[in-house]
Amino acid sequence: MSETDQSIVVEGVPTFPEVLQHVVRPTDPVIGTVVESRVCTKSKKAAGFVRHIEIDVSGTALEGAWVSGQSFGVVPPGLTEAGKPHKLRLYSIAAPTGGETGDGTIISTTLKRVVDEHWEDHTLFQGLCSNYLADLQIGDKVHLTGPAGKRFLLPADPAAHNYIFIATGTGIAPFRSMLGDLVKLGMPSRVDLIMGVPYESDLLYDEDFKELAEDYPGRFHYRTAISRHTTPGQPKKLYVQGRLQEDASVLVEILKSDRTLIYICGIAGMELGILQTLAGVLDPKSLSQYLTIDPEIGTDPGRWNRKMIPRTLKPTKRMFLEVY
Ligand SMILES: Cc1cc2nc3c(=O)[nH]c(=O)nc-3n(C[C@H](O)[C@H](O)[C@H](O)COP(=O)(O)OP(=O)(O)OC[C@H]3O[C@@H](n4cnc5c(N)ncnc54)[C@H](O)[C@@H]3O)c2cc1C
Repeated sequence: MSETDQSIVVEGVPTFPEVLQHVVRPTDPVIGTVVESRVCTKSKKAAGFVRHIEIDVSGTALEGAWVSGQSFGVVPPGLTEAGKPHKLRLYSIAAPTGGETGDGTIISTTLKRVVDEHWEDHTLFQGLCSNYLADLQIGDKVHLTGPAGKRFLLPADPAAHNYIFIATGTGIAPFRSMLGDLVKLGMPSRVDLIMGVPYESDLLYDEDFKELAEDYPGRFHYRTAISRHTTPGQPKKLYVQGRLQEDASVLVEILKSDRTLIYICGIAGMELGILQTLAGVLDPKSLSQYLTIDPEIGTDPGRWNRKMIPRTLKPTKRMFLEVY
């Protein structure tokens, strides 16, 4: 089947709302004020430094301009070595449509400090913008752009679909955002959230998701995948696709439904294992609801690689990827 094969009919394809984009451009950013910055990992001693950051954008062109699933830009201060302004970095919005307070004034994100050793000479590597943002204190000003993104959104009629949300690390941000919108609608659909992190202590917004599962039994299902150690509730180390496999007896039925949409967000590379696992647990017809496979690459998922996405392993309009 070629990419242009018109015979592929995917049922249950959603329509999306029209959204604003690039209302604020990097050449003329607006100034927001940090109003909250708190650790949002399950443990304050987690291996990764991740913060929930809220920024007041009231009175700027960003106020009320975004919907759940979009991103905003941050322009770090200072100049590059070449004397040019730094490029903006994108951050997924973690707040629902209407923001943290519902009136469109407070935008938020889930921010991970990028800290590593330089590949070249093993000196300390600190990401420029993530560490700038994480260092900001309440009351500090920050230059913002956006909103950005028109594909990784809830459909125009959210109640018409079920959702499988798969996140690694800060990839949870747009799902916190979308879940906020679904809660406002009274959680009209079934949502299965799979959250993957290396250690249990790195789980993000863990208490909030547990509470949501208690508030909406049978509607919201919170599933975790811990990849570098086992826990009493998880005797095997699991990546997100491992959780998909472990819970296949429940999830396959949901995936077969033509109401279901899959959203994947987080670390670049996570998508291949998920696609391979979907190919393993679903029959070809059900798989074709989410993935169009060029026959030249064959149906043996063991032979697939990341470069095949999205051209020869092409997500349909019922599966959405945002990896970075
Ligand atoms: C759509 C989208 C949404 C995003 N959402 C979020 C979000 O919600 N939360 C979040 O935290 N981030 C998010 N990001 C990532 C974010 O935009 C930044 O890329 C991230 O914060 C790192 O930026 P930085 O300026 O700190 O790092 P930079 O200074 O830009 O450094 C990162 C770059 O340095 C290089 N590098 C990395 N490690 C090393 C090393 N050890 N040695 C040498 N070079 C190295 C890499 O080439 C890498 O591209 C998102 C990205 C996209 C595209």
